[in-house]
Amino acid sequence: MSTAPLNVQAYRASLLHFHADPAFDERAHAWHEDGLLVVEDGKVKAAGDYARLAATLPPGLEPVDYRGKVITPGFIDTHLHYPQTDMIASPAPGLLPWLETYTFPTERRFEDPAHARSTAEFFLDELLRCGTTTAVVYCTVHPGSVDAFFEASEARGLRMVAGKVLMDRHCPDFLRDLEGDLGQSEALINKWHKRGRSLYAITPRFAPTSTEAQLKLTGELAAQYPDTFIQTHVSENKDECRWVGELFPQARSYLDVYERYGLMRPRALFGHCIWLDDEDFARMAATGSAAAVCPTSNLFLGSGLFDFERADGAKALLSLGTDVGAGTSFSMLQTMNEAYKVARLKGSYLPALRMFYLATLGAARSMRLEDSIGSFAQGREADFVVLDPKATPLMERRTSHCNSLEELLFALALLGDDRTVEATYSGGNRVHGRGK
Ligand SMILES: [Zn+2]
Repeated sequence: MSTAPLNVQAYRASLLHFHADPAFDERAHAWHEDGLLVVEDGKVKAAGDYARLAATLPPGLEPVDYRGKVITPGFIDTHLHYPQTDMIASPAPGLLPWLETYTFPTERRFEDPAHARSTAEFFLDELLRCGTTTAVVYCTVHPGSVDAFFEASEARGLRMVAGKVLMDRHCPDFLRDLEGDLGQSEALINKWHKRGRSLYAITPRFAPTSTEAQLKLTGELAAQYPDTFIQTHVSENKDECRWVGELFPQARSYLDVYERYGLMRPRALFGHCIWLDDEDFARMAATGSAAAVCPTSNLFLGSGLFDFERADGAKALLSLGTDVGAGTSFSMLQTMNEAYKVARLKGSYLPALRMFYLATLGAARSMRLEDSIGSFAQGREADFVVLDPKATPLMERRTSHCNSLEELLFALALLGDDRTVEATYSGGNRVHGRGK
């Protein structure tokens, strides 16, 4: 009697993934109502109809039975701050007072490696509970905060992007980099970038907290290591935009400050992008930079409403971020829920299919990682989430009479949260499951 090789697993469920952006391509998604996902050595071997693929399984291999559930690629959160986990849901009238009152004192605690380690562990487990398998993460100015993060993500086998915050002005002394010194960031790149599944992001917090000297050196570092990521904030709220205008009078716009210092390029992710104009979005598209749209944060701080129509007009790369701790949920489903409402208030419409695209393949494309994650194309890393449409009594009642895939996904996005996540897998390993 033959037995199945240990390195192959199969999962039977409804499967959803994308090969294009549904905003621009009517045949962008693949949906297999009775589907099978086959994983070999931690990578996707095949994804399709159960009826077609079952016969290809090695003899003796029983698929894990997730019938009635929906499997999608793991969610990708392209903007959040792990050190701010403990200050989520802290009251403050707007971005700048919120930074002063909560953020800087909270981030100071990351001088202590033990605090950094315990926060990173909690943070990553919370992401996995919400079905997020990849995130683009701000640490603090302390190099130890980066070590703690990557040690915890490496122990879980996760595909994660993170970096040390750069700040050398307009911040408390205890969080200030030495002017002109990017040696810590470079050492962290050499230590962590492409080690296992870890990837490094050069991380100037935002233009007002960096001197021109620091921005210039940051751009040089980004050019020296072109396959690293860049993450920062841009055009979040009007007071901040005004401040940047005063600090950098020579720049055409807030975004232009970053372009002047060589910080717009592929793998550059800009959080918020609320007040960008048409020319800014054209520059985003031309440089291959990407917007990380953070609706729960933008509503929480009253920053403004992202303009999906304007961004799509320029075909700018888009993705979704929670922006925890200003964001109010770790759940990408809740982030979709709020993104939908933001679009409505701006007079546009975000179908659920588009939102699931943005949280999976759209994000992977924004990061130039579509050959590794974000879909079930053959050879992709087997990061996926099992969603339960009957997770709560209300969800069960609503999803029992859906007439289309769009209706089902819409109910998952609008009513779903961490309770909807039956299990999360990373590299083919179950890293979260109910009752675990
Ligand atoms: Zn942020």
